[in-house]
Amino acid sequence: MNESLDDAGLVERFPYARIDHDSKHLYRGWLEKRLLINRCDDCHRFHHPPKPICPRCWCSSLTPTEVGGRGVIHLAMFLHQGPPAPGVDYAKAPHPVVAVELREQEGLRFTSTVVDCPLPEVRIGLAVELAWVDRFGAPFPVFRPAKSD
Ligand SMILES: [Zn+2]
Repeated sequence: MNESLDDAGLVERFPYARIDHDSKHLYRGWLEKRLLINRCDDCHRFHHPPKPICPRCWCSSLTPTEVGGRGVIHLAMFLHQGPPAPGVDYAKAPHPVVAVELREQEGLRFTSTVVDCPLPEVRIGLAVELAWVDRFGAPFPVFRPAKSD
């Protein structure tokens, strides 16, 4: 993991994000294009977004653990307005936002957008995989249609 960057440096790399001690490992992972999800050392369940304790067994021993980034779209929304982001033009086309259920665990979902996919094909049940784009000078995790299973 990228531990050479101190917390202040990390915050500087993601000026648009609210980073705290619970989420800093998630963002450190992004800088290395790795999706790190907190996993409980006791019951071995993943949970996201990051919390200081396991929401299932209340254990406070958690390990940021890399996931493969494959899953299926669980929920899809199309934003016609929203916060400015590079490459997003709400006037031209709605911006897809999806909650992807990750393969690692039932109910484990990560929310982002979909790239390299025509809007009509963005739908619940679509198999997707993790991809990375640049957002404000730092890697940002997105999804694209899965190439193969
Ligand atoms: Zn637990």
